[in-house]
Amino acid sequence: MTRFIFITGGVVSSLGKGIASAALGALLQARGYKVRLRKLDPYINVDPGTMSPYQHGEVYVTDDGAETDLDLGHYERFTGVAARQSDNVTTGRIYSNVIARERRGDYLGATVQVIPHITDAIKEFVTSDLTDEDFVLCEIGGTVGDIESLPFLEAIRQLSNELGRDRAVFVHLTLMPYIPAAGEIKTKPTQHSVKELLSVGIQADLLVCRSDRPVSVEARRKLALFCNVSPERVIEALDVDTIYDVPVRYHEAGFDTEVLKRFGMDKGREAEVDLSVWRNIVQRVRAPEGQVSIAVVGKYTNLLDAYKSLHEALVHGGIANNVRVKLDWIESEIFENDETTLHRLENCNGILVPGGFGGRGTEGKVAAVRFAREKNIPFLGICFGMQMAVIEAARNLAGISGAGSTEFGTCKDPVVGLLTEWRRGNRVERRSESDDVGGSMRLGAYACRLAPGSKVAEVYGNQAEISERHRHRYEVNINYRDKLEGAGMVFSGMSPDGELPEIVEIPSHPWFIGVQFHPELKSKPSNPHPLFASFIHAAIENSRLV
Ligand code: GLN
Repeated sequence: MTRFIFITGGVVSSLGKGIASAALGALLQARGYKVRLRKLDPYINVDPGTMSPYQHGEVYVTDDGAETDLDLGHYERFTGVAARQSDNVTTGRIYSNVIARERRGDYLGATVQVIPHITDAIKEFVTSDLTDEDFVLCEIGGTVGDIESLPFLEAIRQLSNELGRDRAVFVHLTLMPYIPAAGEIKTKPTQHSVKELLSVGIQADLLVCRSDRPVSVEARRKLALFCNVSPERVIEALDVDTIYDVPVRYHEAGFDTEVLKRFGMDKGREAEVDLSVWRNIVQRVRAPEGQVSIAVVGKYTNLLDAYKSLHEALVHGGIANNVRVKLDWIESEIFENDETTLHRLENCNGILVPGGFGGRGTEGKVAAVRFAREKNIPFLGICFGMQMAVIEAARNLAGISGAGSTEFGTCKDPVVGLLTEWRRGNRVERRSESDDVGGSMRLGAYACRLAPGSKVAEVYGNQAEISERHRHRYEVNINYRDKLEGAGMVFSGMSPDGELPEIVEIPSHPWFIGVQFHPELKSKPSNPHPLFASFIHAAIENSRLV
């Protein structure tokens, strides 16, 4: 029997509902249960793929090619369960499905309304595509009280009635602010938010209270009294220095125990909870043996959410090597028109150029790649970063001075170009320049063959074929392969049909790899991605030379 845990948020946004959900998922998993995590997003976009990273942060891509909310990245990193298209839905997708059905005539004769048609579609989403999960944790985006989230709250209210209260639990995450003038933590905002939830018919079963200092027994009692929950179900969620400490802290605060008690299924399992994996990760993050510094030369560097998985994957690379990874986020534009700014890269032990879109800042990225190549600094180029590395090598190693990408308009030598046709397994996928922008990139998992004897083959433990996730419209142009290889840049990873360059490397450089996919999406704290583990290892070697 599958049980459902709905997680809502109150008072303010950015309280870490995604991490709270992911951590609870990890705790239930540690008790031997099978979990699945899902997110309902109340905005009108069909998916976050068309939103600016400044607005929404990273777009997390799944194996099945869905462009999803970055919280799905937390879910995967904490539970290891690969997220799917069926784990994230938005208001936009729900409405477009309902409207398509209306046009087909599925509701012939009826007036199509929010209740029941939209709420039915939401319930269908929450309960479909499941395979014997013990628990589905379903996070509702936004903050309770927003107009946008009302249909979602109504749908989960209905669902809890239909399932019965022993199969549905409501967790509400709120903030307990400390007011210095009063010298107290305040419960009132949480009381209001719980009331707001009650006004749409939902009684919170557990309150998870974010706070920057311990919440007194007194404050918890007061909150319990006013919010109609028992004091043990007011869970203290203190700020932590690393997100990987959240599962252990939540467990100590009784979160998983109280959730199970509420379902009537806590008996006798207490002794079985083994959180040593999480304790080890935290130990490694807190007490590293050394430090390396990595410069990330990108475009959205003042919004760290835009590179969420990348940031975590670099931390994982540090965990694998027992070092702290100090990140220097640099806006690539600073390297344009003024070569002296490149000195900022002198003291770093590794340079990473991440994914990106559009022309702004590209010449700065090319300059950073050149610096890494010429100064023998370990370099990792991801997606756009790989494309910039190819442009740099074409211009400065192969002497193709007009090398560029058609992403920025026509150019004399399109070493990176728009892809209009490619193979996925036995299928041919086609695009044209006039296609819709949304959902039309090369998305999701694709296989890649590694050249035996290459650096990447070694990094991946000599596997012949790997699978990694993609999200891009442009590709390195295979027609320039001979010229580039002749100049020292080797195409060491290719699509199985040999058409699409997936990985490039420079064998004469200590560690220079560019990948067309996004390895950061599959890295886990308990299982760091080999590319990041190896890149950080190379950075450590470099730090010994500096
Ligand atoms: N803008 C490039 C493309 O569409 C790279 C995309 C990316 O880095 N994710 O091909």
